[in-house]
Amino acid sequence: MGRVFDPRTLERLPAVELGLSADTDMADMIDELAAFTLLSNSDAHSRRSIAREYNVIEMESPDFRELSLALRRLEWRRVVQNVGLDPRLGKYHRSFCLSCGRAASGAAAVEVCPCCGSGRVVRGVWDRARQIASRDKPLHPPHRPPYVRQVPLAFIPGIGPAMLDRLIRRFGSEMNVVHRASERELASVAGERVARAIVAAREGMLSVTTGAGGFYGSVDFP
Ligand SMILES: [Zn+2]
Repeated sequence: MGRVFDPRTLERLPAVELGLSADTDMADMIDELAAFTLLSNSDAHSRRSIAREYNVIEMESPDFRELSLALRRLEWRRVVQNVGLDPRLGKYHRSFCLSCGRAASGAAAVEVCPCCGSGRVVRGVWDRARQIASRDKPLHPPHRPPYVRQVPLAFIPGIGPAMLDRLIRRFGSEMNVVHRASERELASVAGERVARAIVAAREGMLSVTTGAGGFYGSVDFP
């Protein structure tokens, strides 16, 4: 495997961005990443997607000098929380076979499709991470903050654009809807079924169909 960066360049990189299809559990199976601050960013190509992932950062003031200190974990500045998608919802979580149209499940599939043997495989982040992993389980370095999983409202069945606007207007931000509003408050705006789904997502109780091959994963509410 070739090196992309020489060691001197690597020393100057303080942080690595997790994609939507990964979280810190996946990254911390790879020893090479232990020294880096990990960032969970939205990769937002539309306004609607802003804050589908974000970082909570302790710093003196919101400016570039402070951000640089935080990424390097200097003085007391640091990232104290990564908030992001359940990585199974990302578009490239598992490998996807372009020949038979199936996502890999089970063991890592990086070169050939386990179903049909085709080599036309869009490699998944999980599969690639497993291929180069140092171990089977994550080992978080002491500086690693918690990763809080969230399901953006657009993923939740029953929430269309009009309902989304109504919820955000009532509670002030999507973050308040996703993490803070009570089920009763949510039900007064969105009805009981949607309120139950938002709370189930908050508690990790929705069933997830894994994303692959450029298609987002999805959640289902039984
Ligand atoms: Zn196949």
